[in-house]
This record gives sequence, C-alpha cells and structure tokens, in this order.
Amino acid sequence: MKTPLQEKIGLFESSFGDGAGKRFALVSGIHGDELDGLYLSYHLARFLREWESAGKSIRGQVSLIPVANPLATAATERFWPFGQIDVNRCFPGTNGTAADPPPQGEGASHVWAGALFEHLKGFDLVVDVHSSNLFLRECPQIRVLNRYRAVAETYADHTNVDVVWVHDAPTVIETTLSCNLNAAGVPTLVVEMGVGLRIQKEFVEIVFQGVLSLLQKLGILSGALPPAPPSRPIYATDQNVRYLNSESGGFFVPDISVGFKVEQGQRIGRILDALSGEVKEDVASRWNGYLFTIRAHPIVYPGSLMARVIEIA
Ligand SMILES: [Zn+2]
Repeated sequence: MKTPLQEKIGLFESSFGDGAGKRFALVSGIHGDELDGLYLSYHLARFLREWESAGKSIRGQVSLIPVANPLATAATERFWPFGQIDVNRCFPGTNGTAADPPPQGEGASHVWAGALFEHLKGFDLVVDVHSSNLFLRECPQIRVLNRYRAVAETYADHTNVDVVWVHDAPTVIETTLSCNLNAAGVPTLVVEMGVGLRIQKEFVEIVFQGVLSLLQKLGILSGALPPAPPSRPIYATDQNVRYLNSESGGFFVPDISVGFKVEQGQRIGRILDALSGEVKEDVASRWNGYLFTIRAHPIVYPGSLMARVIEIA
C-alpha cells in the first residue's frame, strides 16, 4: 500500500512452523503507541527460533505481527497519522475497489484494516495485544464482549492472566478487529496490559508464558515445555467492577502497582499539591477486591478515574 506521500507500507510478519496443523497469530500495535507486543513478539520469536534450531517441531503455524499499524508506531502516535483515525474502529475494512469503497476521507486506514482482516481470517486463534493508554495502568487481562464470552472461557485458563473482563458493548466496539474476527468464526482474544508508550517487562513475561500454554493447547508445540502455569482468572462483569474517581485535583503518586488484592480502606496512593506541600487526598479502595487498573498519568482533576476494582464479597 502507498501513503499520500507515495511511501510504500506493508505488513511486517514473521512466521514459524511446518504448516501442518493449527494456525495461531499474535497481533499487536493496532494502536501505534502500545508497545508491549513488541517485547512479547521478541520473546516468542526467540523461543521459536531456538526450538526449531534444537530440531523440535512446530506443528502448524505461529505468525507474529507486532507492528500492526506501522505508520502510527513510527510516528509515536496512537492513530493512523493521516486524519488521526483509530484503525481499531475501521474493521472489517474494505478492499478499496469501486465495488467496495472506503468511507469518504478515511480511505487508507479502512483499506489497511480490510487487508489485515482478510489476512487473519484463516487462523484458528488470534491474540490481539493492547497496552492501555497514557492514563491507566492495567494488569494483564482478557477483554471480551459478553456475546463471545465462550471464546474466553475456552482459552482463558491457558493465558496466565488474572482477570477476564466480560463487558456489554457500546456499538462502537462492532468495528474492532476482535469483534469482526470473532463474528467471522476466528476465535480472538484481546489481551490488555501495562500502559501506553512503555514496556512493562514483568507483565509481558506473564503473557509470554500464557501464549506458550495456548500453543500447547492448540497442539502447535508439544514435548518438553515448562508446565503450563495454573490459571483461574477472576471474571469481571458490569455487576462487580467498581470505579474509583478522585475528589480533588493535583498530582497522583501511587503506593502500589496493579494486579493485587486490596481491602476496603487500603490506601493505593495520594494526590499531592506541589505548591503548598499538602496532601490533597488519600486515595483508598472502597471495596475488598482485586485492583486491576490504576491511574498512571500523574495529573488528575476532580472526577479523574483513579482505579478499577473487582469487588469480591
Ligand atoms: Zn489498544
């Protein structure tokens, strides 16, 4: 594909395996500022290369697409740089022909989405990795629409994550990659972790172990692998997810990271005032539960989202 500046762009992909089995794809970076997938892809490529060098078989296919929106990643941006379009709201995309034209003014991003969607249609499992945004830090978790909950239930115990968030959809979700692949019969898991524009090593390593476990479940890898990590994730739903918002403005300094049990009243950080030296607010959990989201961007206003907790009775 060519950009308006006549620069050629294509999909960077590496592929492993003998082709005689199930097909697995790891996709990340559809939002160009989400970078954990790079490190995850590195771990997998390195592992699979060494696996093949040792003469062991990779039955089927493992495809790595770590930079699924290369123009945005190169520009350190989240969205498609021409027109600031969210590519993850362009699916299933179009093929760009007169018979299947893209929406006015949003041509290239929809054609890109269409090509990626067509490319992934033949896979048996796709993991679409996201890294939150600049504002919130997320523990490794699966996000799934209620209507595809069965997909998560089939695979979640093999992903090594602590949380599966099953949510009802605002209609905008209909245009994501994961929703369209699931609708087309390609089981797709969205993994969310970390924070935008950063790599959170320990979270990537958790998900890496999960992907190895998925590859075993699919029969792509077999033999002397590390034992699959036991994983019984907590299911978060609209009924048990609680939102903690700030009451004051200032800057936030967290006490802890994310992915822990918290108790009602436990402080998770403080909102401070740089000029007066005062503590504006002790930010504390109002519930017993599991802290799976915490504020990452320090600047907060009254009402800013500080944390999400799965309430556990
Ligand atoms: Zn994302």
